[in-house]
Amino acid sequence: MKRHDQFEKFTHEWLLSYSASGKTIYCRENCSGCCHLAVHATYPEAIAVAEALTEPQLQKLSSYVARLKKAMQELTNLRSYLKKHRQELGPCPFLDAQGSCSIYTIRPLACRALLSTRPAAWCTVDFSELDHWDKQAYESGLDRQVVAWPTHYVAATQDIGRELENTLLISMQRERGWSLSGNFAVMVWLEKKAQLSKDNAAITQQVRDIVTAHGLNNHLLLNFTGDS
Ligand code: SF4
Repeated sequence: MKRHDQFEKFTHEWLLSYSASGKTIYCRENCSGCCHLAVHATYPEAIAVAEALTEPQLQKLSSYVARLKKAMQELTNLRSYLKKHRQELGPCPFLDAQGSCSIYTIRPLACRALLSTRPAAWCTVDFSELDHWDKQAYESGLDRQVVAWPTHYVAATQDIGRELENTLLISMQRERGWSLSGNFAVMVWLEKKAQLSKDNAAITQQVRDIVTAHGLNNHLLLNFTGDS
């Protein structure tokens, strides 16, 4: 995908200059702490993954979507959704048994953009459960020039990632009259099951109706932009 290439070029240059200043990014192979977070991506990225999905991957994905749908019945706000996702839903369904991303070359921008300026253990900490002093110690050690405060993840890569996501959504909106962003795994599952991208005539309301029929029309999971 062209946007992914643009992102990789930017990140490569950014990383060179960051390490030249003597600083470290802690992301490593088989380090999957951030794969326990809810991943927010765009529908065009989900289409690319749905097209490449294998049967075992689809089974894992379907089981995740079933667990998520059940969990959503009790969740009313973003905070509780993110917390439950991190603590109870298990890792991303595309994470393999070795702790590697099974769709690495086509993973979304949101995953590419998350670069950690702290050792891996920090990526699995639930900050809402830290006491005041631990939180203060954590925040005082952050490099405010670099991170997306108050997280320890690099801001520049997230900014460029969001910009590129917007261009994907604008193109989709222009071509189809609707676009969708939200929970990445849910969108891959929807594309695989309902093939929303295959129906060129579909308008926003029809797409919404299909999403509703699958029990997934929830603003915490999916965000539409469209003509209705
Ligand atoms: S898509 Fe890959 S990198 Fe992104 S959260 Fe899932 S397993 Fe991790």
